[in-house]
Amino acid sequence: MYRGRFAPSPTGELHAGSLVAALASYLDARAHHGEWLVRIEDVDAPRCIEGADKMILKQLQQCGLHWDGNVVYQSQRDSLYQQALDNLLAQDLVYPCGCTRKEIEENQALLGLDLSRNKAAVYLGTCREGLKGKPARAWRFNVRKWSELRASPVVHWTDRRLGPQSQNVLAEVGDFVLKRADGLWAYQLAVVVDDAKQGITHVVRGEDLSDNTARQMLLQEALGYPAQKYLHTALVWGVNGEKLSKQNGAKALNLSSDAAICQSLISAASTLGLDAGPGTLGSLEQLPSALVNWTDAWAHRQPTKIEA
Ligand SMILES: [Zn+2]
Repeated sequence: MYRGRFAPSPTGELHAGSLVAALASYLDARAHHGEWLVRIEDVDAPRCIEGADKMILKQLQQCGLHWDGNVVYQSQRDSLYQQALDNLLAQDLVYPCGCTRKEIEENQALLGLDLSRNKAAVYLGTCREGLKGKPARAWRFNVRKWSELRASPVVHWTDRRLGPQSQNVLAEVGDFVLKRADGLWAYQLAVVVDDAKQGITHVVRGEDLSDNTARQMLLQEALGYPAQKYLHTALVWGVNGEKLSKQNGAKALNLSSDAAICQSLISAASTLGLDAGPGTLGSLEQLPSALVNWTDAWAHRQPTKIEA
């Protein structure tokens, strides 16, 4: 049974890029005759904006993207994340880290390492053998130990759009954080636990999140969770050539009138390479049939073809 999800962070309203991701995951689920769930990723509470969750859900409904089951909120799933951390602790696959961000970057600079990867410092495992008197700040996944147990630090997978992918997590990321210094759960852990507990079989999301895939696969393996299939969709680029995101001030979707809703969906569909020419969605009355037509087109196209 196919089960997919759309998992927005309530850090603002949907923008053009997040509507593309929502539409892609919706169409993929419907094309597989599967379920489509919505999960609000509010684990990073300081970044969340009050009421944004309700706004996002309303926007999805305005666009005819109706989800199955109840909406899940990460902020209510603390105990599940703690169980997963305890599981990894019992396997000796996590350890406390006392390093500050500054110390991590300084260590890296000393070794002449490149800081360019997402401007995030590769963690060199400083606290892997103990805190050496420093207070514990964060909890990290021991990528080196898990790499030894699974006989490779390289994760391979096939993205349904991007093709064969791989990442050496130990060299390119290092031991990554599962519980942050501020006590909040890290995105990587929450996503992996939720996807497994919700029985998600297929992940469809924007290409900007592709870089997380290898870390999430390592965690799935270590926690004994089933693997998923991945499809990372094309991003929407702003006029300045930057990826549209809430961080760089992408405008909220204009869903203020029936015509604006149609236009927003037409733009999203055409970003996904679907036929969105004149007549596909001229009025909201055509929305159900447009979604059915796009689902049908999605099911029969290359290269994001449906797998069994
Ligand atoms: Zn450390």
